[in-house]
Amino acid sequence: MRLVLLGPPGAGKGTQATLLSEKLGIPHVSTGDLFRANIGQQTPLGVEAKKYLDAGDLVPSTLTVDMVRDRLAEPDATGGFILDGFPRSVDQADSLAGILEDMGTTLDAVVSFVIDEDVVVERMLARGREDDKEDVIRNRMKVYRDETAPLLEYYSGHGRSGQAGGRSGLVVTVDAVGEVEDVNTKVIDAIQGDS
Ligand code: ADP
Repeated sequence: MRLVLLGPPGAGKGTQATLLSEKLGIPHVSTGDLFRANIGQQTPLGVEAKKYLDAGDLVPSTLTVDMVRDRLAEPDATGGFILDGFPRSVDQADSLAGILEDMGTTLDAVVSFVIDEDVVVERMLARGREDDKEDVIRNRMKVYRDETAPLLEYYSGHGRSGQAGGRSGLVVTVDAVGEVEDVNTKVIDAIQGDS
């Protein structure tokens, strides 16, 4: 199963991806986590990426796309993966299409997490990660609206359309408000109900 998780910052994609990874036996590939690991180890990529994370801006695609390509080429990802935080723009989605084509594969579904902006801001302020400061959060939300939200339309036009179960193109929609396990059950129902 090859999945992309889509939704605003703070929607719980990382939490859901971790659970899905355990249940489906496929790796969780989070670009945010990969950048933070590089920052922690002070690699050249990490040093370069840090200023963008600190501001809540997108790391340039030249850096991001190569990192994702390398990660998806690792052996544990041959049987599937859960992409969390990538793609984050139409440009990155086009790059992902190229990567998948080179791998001879396609996405199975794009899971769209639907949640109110007020709720996610509250969640992030409570979480208190280094980039969870109010002005940085506000910028990440703006970047999401401007750059990432158009992907819903992008993926609605791709893949299997006209099937039952609320699927429009590749996109399945999940209400991200509720208990972690309940949301996870909804995600699994949504992706399995349509395959
Ligand atoms: P959240 O979704 O809660 O904002 P992430 O861990 O997914 O958190 O991302 C944190 C930061 O990492 C982003 O604000 C951005 O700076 C950087 N980042 C993550 N994924 C990408 C990506 N695909 N392209 C560019 N920058 C990214």
